Amino acid sequence: MNIDIATLFPEMLENYLSQSVVGRARDKGVFTVKCHNIRDYTLDKHRRVDDTPYSERQGMLMQCEPVYNCFKAVTEGRKPHVIYMSPQGRTLTQQRAKELSQLEDIFILCGHYEGVDERVIEEIVDEEISIGDYVLTGGELPALVLVDSVVRMLEGTLSKADCYEDESHYNGLLEYPQYTRPEIWHDKQVPEVLLSGHHANIQKWRHEQALLTTKKKRPELLEKLELTPDDLAILHKIGEE
Ligand code: SAM
Repeated sequence: MNIDIATLFPEMLENYLSQSVVGRARDKGVFTVKCHNIRDYTLDKHRRVDDTPYSERQGMLMQCEPVYNCFKAVTEGRKPHVIYMSPQGRTLTQQRAKELSQLEDIFILCGHYEGVDERVIEEIVDEEISIGDYVLTGGELPALVLVDSVVRMLEGTLSKADCYEDESHYNGLLEYPQYTRPEIWHDKQVPEVLLSGHHANIQKWRHEQALLTTKKKRPELLEKLELTPDDLAILHKIGEE
C-alpha cells in the first residue's frame, strides 16, 4: 500500500510514522508513506497558502491552488482514493479501516486553521473521514489515527492476523480482559482458567468475557450484532447474576 499525506506540518507526522509498530512496518516495506508540504506548491512569493474566508472577519482558510497543485504533482499518472480528514466526515470505524486496508493507493488531505476552500474539496476528494464529533486544530492527528488503524491490518505489520482480529471492535465486541505476570498482585488473582492451559476452555472464557465486557461498557454495540442463541443465553445468565 502507498499513502501520501498533504499537510502544512509534515514534521508533526514524520516523527510518529517512524516509531514503534508503524515505523517498523514502514522500514520493512509493508507500506510506503510520504508527507508532502502543501506550502511547497504555492505560487505566492511569500509562500502563503491561506486567506480570510469571504464574509468572515476572522480565521484563515486554506486556498484551493496550493492544495490542488500539491495533489496534481504528487498523484501524477495515478488515481489514489482521496480522503479529506474533516469533522464533517463519516466517523472512522474499525470496519472502514479494514476496507481501506484493502486499497493500494491513498491520498490524505489534512486541513488546518478554519479548514479548506470547499471548491478544491469538491474537485479532488472522494471521501471525508472524521475521527469523532469534536473539532481539532488540524487534520494531522486525525491522519495519523487513520494511517495507524489501517496499516496495523496490513499483512506483515503485526506478527499474525489474530493480533488485531481478537481485539475490540473487529467483530463488533470489545476484547476480553487481559493479564500478565505476576499471578497475584495486590491480592488480585489471575483467573484460574488462564493458567489451566486448556485451550478450548480459555477460548470459551474469552468469548463470555468479551460479551460481558461489551454489555458492561458499551451495551449499544450488542444491538448491532447478530447474536447466536448461545450468546443470548450467556448474556441472559450475566443479567441474572
Ligand atoms: N471549520 C471547520 C468546521 O467547523 O467543520 C473545522 C476546521 S478544523 C479547526 C481544521 C482542520 O482540522 C479541518 O480542516 C480538518 O482537516 C481537521 N479536523 C478537525 N477536527 C477533525 C476531526 N474530528 N476529524 C478529522 N479531521 C478533523
